[in-house]
Amino acid sequence: MKKHYSVIVVGAGSMGMAAGYYLGKKGIDTLLIDAYDPPHNMASHHGETRLIRHAPAEGEQYAPLVLRAQELWFDLEKASNRKLFYPTGTLLAGEENAPFIADTIKVAKKFSLPMERLQPAEIEKRWPQFSIPENYIGYLEPDSGVLLNQDIILAYKTLAKSHQVAIQTNCPVTEIIPSNSGITVKTRQNTFYADRIAICTGAWTGKILKDIRLPLQTVRKTFGWFETNDVSFQPPLLPCFYFNCNQQKYYGFPDITGSGVKVGRNDSEKDVDPEDMVQDFGKYPNDQKRSCHIR
Ligand SMILES: Cc1cc2nc3c(=O)[nH]c(=O)nc-3n(C[C@H](O)[C@H](O)[C@H](O)COP(=O)(O)OP(=O)(O)OC[C@H]3O[C@@H](n4cnc5c(N)ncnc54)[C@H](O)[C@@H]3O)c2cc1C
Repeated sequence: MKKHYSVIVVGAGSMGMAAGYYLGKKGIDTLLIDAYDPPHNMASHHGETRLIRHAPAEGEQYAPLVLRAQELWFDLEKASNRKLFYPTGTLLAGEENAPFIADTIKVAKKFSLPMERLQPAEIEKRWPQFSIPENYIGYLEPDSGVLLNQDIILAYKTLAKSHQVAIQTNCPVTEIIPSNSGITVKTRQNTFYADRIAICTGAWTGKILKDIRLPLQTVRKTFGWFETNDVSFQPPLLPCFYFNCNQQKYYGFPDITGSGVKVGRNDSEKDVDPEDMVQDFGKYPNDQKRSCHIR
């Protein structure tokens, strides 16, 4: 195997596999290296599905990025001939002045994004699967939906290979040594050299770049699947949902892959070791506190 590349991408998860594909597509001589064989269940991309909302309450600066990303997901579906996006829409609900709702509506207005305002009774009539408190307001963001993130990585992987991108899997990078003449990348098995490097190691970035001491913090995110055979929990009969209740944010997905309705709570347990993230919910001391009741 050759040792020198124009670009080495360390980490071939959501970001790295995409970077590898786009570099390869531009004809740039690229090597992707991953400690596992993506997609895999140790990384942030595990868990089948991801929600894409076009009006992010997290900050209006993200809206142009999300809208561009949506165009690129459609391009990827065409290039890979795979269904990767389900336009389920997302139902937001919460008290009118709940920060998540108010911030989302602000961004939607600024970017003229479609958003349908719904009273609790209208929501329950349209989707009897939900029971919405009377003091809540709902908004349907119709163009948002679900990405099959693990299938996306597989699609990028196939396309990257078709553009002659080299991929080394099960090959942890142990050291990165920059110098004026290029970059040396050491793995357990080999040493490679590159003119440029892209570090896409997700939750492991603090470890691999420990000498730079970036202010990075790892957080643990949990979600669960509720199995059902009821078709009313599948798209198009159920949208994605994002509820701001009692200071907490819960989000969920209809049953797309047959695994069940997926529900998560958008809070974070801080400073977890990424190597330690695959244990089942309930195995961590804080899980009792983090458990939620879903009606
Ligand atoms: C539970 C959960 C729910 C989420 N929900 C959403 C959502 O609904 N919508 C949304 O937009 N985003 C969501 N996200 C965020 C999104 O999934 C992540 O931002 C994205 O997957 C991160 O991609 P990444 O490439 O940075 O990391 P990863 O996909 O984790 O990839 C990092 C890769 O680097 C490799 N690596 C690490 N160290 C080394 C090394 N030393 N040598 C070689 N390889 C190495 C790893 O093996 C891994 O494959 C969610 C994340 C989680 C965890």
